[in-house]
This record gives sequence, C-alpha cells and structure tokens, in this order.
Amino acid sequence: MKFNELNLNPELLAGIEKLGFETPTDVQSEVIPFLLENKTDLIALAQTGTGKTAAFGLPILQQIDMSNRQIQALILCPTRELCVQIARDLKSFCSEMNALKVLAVYGGADIKPQLAELARGVQIVVATPGRMLDILDRRRADFSAVNRVVLDEADEMLNMGFEPELQGILSKVSQDAQTLLFSATMPRQVAKIASNYMENPHEITIGARNAPTAQVSHEVMVVHAKDRYNALRRVVDVSPGIYGIIFCRTKMDTQLVADRLGKDGYTAEALHGDLYQEERDLVMKKFRNRQIQLLVATDVAARGLDINDLTHVIHYAIPDDFNTYNHRSGRTGRAGKTGSSVAIIHMREHYKIERIEKSLGKSFDQKPIPTAAEISSVRLQNLSQRLSIQEPTCELVENNLEDMYSVLQELSKEELIRRIAVLDQGETLQHYQDSPELSTDPEKQKTKANPTTHRSAKEVRDAHVPRTMTTGMIELVVNVGTRNDLTAEQLKTLLTPSVPGAQVEIGRVNIVEMQTYFEVPYTDSADIVNHFAKHNTEFAGRPLNVALAGNAKPPESTSRKSSYRGKDNKQQRQNNQRPAGRKKYN
Ligand code: AMP
Repeated sequence: MKFNELNLNPELLAGIEKLGFETPTDVQSEVIPFLLENKTDLIALAQTGTGKTAAFGLPILQQIDMSNRQIQALILCPTRELCVQIARDLKSFCSEMNALKVLAVYGGADIKPQLAELARGVQIVVATPGRMLDILDRRRADFSAVNRVVLDEADEMLNMGFEPELQGILSKVSQDAQTLLFSATMPRQVAKIASNYMENPHEITIGARNAPTAQVSHEVMVVHAKDRYNALRRVVDVSPGIYGIIFCRTKMDTQLVADRLGKDGYTAEALHGDLYQEERDLVMKKFRNRQIQLLVATDVAARGLDINDLTHVIHYAIPDDFNTYNHRSGRTGRAGKTGSSVAIIHMREHYKIERIEKSLGKSFDQKPIPTAAEISSVRLQNLSQRLSIQEPTCELVENNLEDMYSVLQELSKEELIRRIAVLDQGETLQHYQDSPELSTDPEKQKTKANPTTHRSAKEVRDAHVPRTMTTGMIELVVNVGTRNDLTAEQLKTLLTPSVPGAQVEIGRVNIVEMQTYFEVPYTDSADIVNHFAKHNTEFAGRPLNVALAGNAKPPESTSRKSSYRGKDNKQQRQNNQRPAGRKKYN
C-alpha cells in the first residue's frame, strides 16, 4: 500500500513525501482509513516507534476546520519530550498547509507564552496532563469545539500517576468527542480509563498484544554484582559505533555510571529528574546530534524519547516488571531497523529474566561477557573496514602527503598497519590486556592483570600510612576503593545526602584497593557515620560502611553530632568481609 491510496489530501501527501515516508507502516494503514471514515472511539495497541504519530496525526490534520480558530483536537502524552516531538511531527506533516496552528503545552517551562499562544487561537493542542489541567483550572483554554482527544502512550501516563489529571481533563471534553487511546500495553488501569471514557471502542492491535518488536534481540549477561560496570564497558567496547541508552534504577546510579563512563573516555551523559530542564534539553540535543553515543537514563526521564536508529538498549539494572522492560527495549529496533536489548544481571536476578521471558513469549540469549580477544578482534576488524572505505579527499591532507611519505618511507606496509592499529585502538585494548576476564565461572576467571597490581590485604593495610590530620578534620574510612573504581568525585556524591542542606567538605582522600580513607570536618563526621549506619547505600554492588579510621578519635563535643550510632571500626572491618544483602540507595 502507498500513502496516496489512503485518501489523504495532496498537501499532507506533499508534507510526508518531504519527510521521506514512502509506504505506510502497519498501524498507519489500519488507523488512517478508520479515522477518516469513523467517529467511533478507538483503542490502538501498538509499540512505540511504529509510526503512531502519523497514524492519528494525519487524519486529525486533514479534518480540522481551517475556518475555525478554536481548539478542535487535544493530544495528551506523558512527557515534555514526547509532547514537543508530536507537535514537531504534526507541523512537519502539515508544512504544506497554511494557517493551521499546532501548540505544545508542557510543564517545566514558562506558562505565560503558552497562554499567550492559546489566546491567539490554535486548532491542535499537544499537552502533558499536569500542565493542561493547570491551564484548564485557570480557565485559559476553551474545549467547547474539541471533537477529538488522543491519549498517547496511555499506559505510560497512568504509570506516571497522571490518572487524576486525565480524569480532570476528560471531564471537560464533550461526550460526543471521539477518544483515541494509543498504548503499547493494556494493563487494568488503561482498561479502566477506556471503560469510563470510551463508548464501544473499535480495537486495532498491531502485532501480538503486548508483544515487543521482532527486530529486537534480547540478550542477558550474568556477572558478579561487583563486575557490573566493567561488563558494561565490555558490551560497549565490543560494539563499535554503538548508539544507545543505558537504563539505571536510580538517579544516583545514573549519574555515577555516566560519570564513570565519562572518566573512562566514553561520550556519555546522564538524563534524570534532578537535572534542570535546560540541562535535560542540552543532553537530549547532544544525544540526538550524536555528540554523545551513550545516554544513561532513569525510566522516568527516558519516557517518550523518540530517537531513531538506537543500536542498543542496555539494562544496567533489570526492571522488576515486563511493561518497563518492554518500553525500554521498544526504544531500539524502530521503523524496520534491528537492535539489541542487553540485560546485565547478577546471579540472584535470574528470576526477573524468567518472569520477563514469560510475558515476552521468548527466551533471552544468554551471552558470555565479551573477552579481551573478542573485543580486540571486533575493534580491529572495524578499523580495517573503516580504512578500506574510500573517504572523500580533503585538500589540506593531500597537500601534506608528500611530506608524510618522506618521513614514513622507511616503514613497511605491515609496520604502518601495526602502528595505525596501535594509535587507533591501543588505549582501549591496553585496558583489556591489563584486566582480568569477567565470568561467573571460576574456571574462566583467568587473571590477566599485571600481578603487581594485586596486593594482599596486609599490603593494602600497610600501604595506608596514617598522616597528620588537617586542623578541624577527622579521618573516616569507607569499604570501597580502587577495586570498585571509586573516584574522589564519586565519594563526594555518595557523601552528599549525609549532611542535609550543606555541601560536604572533604579534605585529603586516600583511595586504596579495598578501602578509602578521607577527611571530613569533625562537626560533620557523626552525621556522616550515622547516615550510612541508618541508610542502606550501595556502590558498585557493595553495601557501604563508613566508620572512623583506625587512628581517628571521635570528637569530644557533647553535641548531638558527637553521638555515633555507626559500627565501630573493628566491627566495620568484619562487616567489610561479608557484605550483607542491603537495598540500593534510592
Ligand atoms: P512514531 O511511532 O510516530 O514515534 O514514529 C517512529 C519513527 O518512525 C519516527 O521517527 C517517524 O518519523 C518514523 N516514521 C513514521 N512513519 C513512517 C513511515 N511510514 N515511513 C518511514 N518512517 C516513518
């Protein structure tokens, strides 16, 4: 089927041709004719990335009464990003139609310009539920002419707790309006909204109900919890050209993983709710432009992201429920492309995979963690391919080639290739040459590391020579160190919640293999120790214990701050040897 067989008007056909759309997707071929001919409500079950926006957008645009400047269609969606994206798509579809006004209204941005635009008259409003209800409460939107309401990613809106807002908004829309509900899944909450606000809806299901796109491969790698980050690096390094999202459970993990990746030379940034809206926009812009290859995100922050061509979705933390997994993995394998959804789990998380497999209707491929040999082979093959492709010539290079020939003429072809390979890949591959392989199978854990980098516990303890304290400071010790890739920056982030309302001042930091010694002001030390005793906090899969370092004396003040509820240092050392099963920092 072609777009010109769908009874769309020539202006819209010209608009979509400009976007390069040739054939309608499945959801478009089913939904467009239905909406052009029917006023009955519609439930369309389709994954993200299947072309839903055009499926509802084109018929809406075609049927707007251009002589009326009132709002005629309302599209509700879960996030600001999706809201902007839908409005942008609709504007592109109708780029050849004059005088049609589409407005995006969303939270986290100044409401005044949005109200001003509404007052000037728009025919289509794309909105996030909270901001829309706010505008309705201020009586600044007239819904009397709304004849179509779209609930896009309805399951996500309900997951995010927007049910009261949706009810508030839908109660203001005429009962005669046609309601269109688009959702990837049909949980009970969505069915409830459908039964309350829709009349005998027609149902269109694209693919199997709740089924993920077929173009996505589902893979799982099992590691020891402490190796999770290093396994992630291997997954990234064995996939040159990777363009993906790494999902973490908490904002804190998201920031820590992004920081570590940045420190290790990857172009990665974090996207989570603690960032200002401008920062989030900037990160998204960089990701879209491919200035960054890896986006490390929480589920909430990544909702509604519409990015094509993602090669990978990596579950750094596997979600507990299928819907979240399905939404994450649906971000890759879009518009006919293939993609990989890779879960990095530790051994006690198998049951989560089994649960997801049941809903997914297929098994995950259990993959070994890529070895140094695989990574080097893939990366060097990729380099050979890149070198074999004829790049367009550049005059400035051509002008200098003679000089290069004379400097390099002594080198054989083999030696030149070797040097290019070392120059291009040496740094990455050296890391693997020096690192032990990762496997949960002890047989396969051949240590490749330089033996001098592994020291006995006694050597480590001896290496920590107590130093003279800075005035007013006291030394604490935490049970993670270089073995866990802790950096001073990360230590600071970990300590931040322990002194409410103030920046933790950190003096000298000494990171040794299994422990880190650090100075903090006397006055903050009890708060810090008590915070970690009370709150279960993990770093790199290791539950954290903070205590006074061996030589440190507790402050003698009788203030609240001097009462230590933490374990003493002896107990701390015992605990360091047997990490308890604790929850992650949230
Ligand atoms: P959506 O599900 O609406 O977010 O669409 C996913 C992506 O597919 C968007 O980037 C669209 O621009 C693209 N797309 C939608 N329909 C088509 C089509 N018929 N042909 C090619 N690309 C499309």
